[in-house]
Amino acid sequence: MQAETYPFVVKPLPYEYDELMPVLDEETLHYHHDKHYKTYVDNLNRALADYPELQKMSLRELLTHIETLPSGVRTAVQNNGGGVYNHELYFDGMKGVAGQEPSGELADAIDRDFGSYKQWKEQMKQAAVSRFGSGWAWLVSDAAGQLSIVQTANQDVPDLEEYTPLFLVDVWEHAYYLQYQNRRADYVEGWFDLINWRKAARRYELRGAK
Ligand code: MN
Repeated sequence: MQAETYPFVVKPLPYEYDELMPVLDEETLHYHHDKHYKTYVDNLNRALADYPELQKMSLRELLTHIETLPSGVRTAVQNNGGGVYNHELYFDGMKGVAGQEPSGELADAIDRDFGSYKQWKEQMKQAAVSRFGSGWAWLVSDAAGQLSIVQTANQDVPDLEEYTPLFLVDVWEHAYYLQYQNRRADYVEGWFDLINWRKAARRYELRGAK
């Protein structure tokens, strides 16, 4: 499959807008996907419009070469390219059936690297709740399969050469404020029931692939 390049397009949600109820309601998802995420796509395309040499690069290539991009477009790609990448993985990393837990190789790795699912969940929740201001908490794997929890600020991404992201949780206020107001911890607790562990396991299997 050819990697997607400019102009980037808004990817539809892989589920219905009411499918993540009651954790995320339709209004929250419409604003988040149709407005916030779309704005990142539009602004990324606008930023790349005057740079034909960058229009051949995939989103991943852009994000792993931030430091070498022309200075006039670097910050716009970091913020809006990151915004596109992060939101696509966030929306794709959720699903509508609650109560699933990891299984197979990924479940074993969670036990090995965090002690247990319960201990992993505590650490992941802590990373999401303690992220000061806007940003994300991620579960990532290195090429050897070692798992880590990482936080990023704003729309920054982890080092994508070193880590394969398995999933992430958006802790910008726009992700939850309509429903949860200032109760970020309640939103994060609900989000655990939305994790698409099947897709996470697939990403784990493919770790290190470009
Ligand atoms: Mn968001």
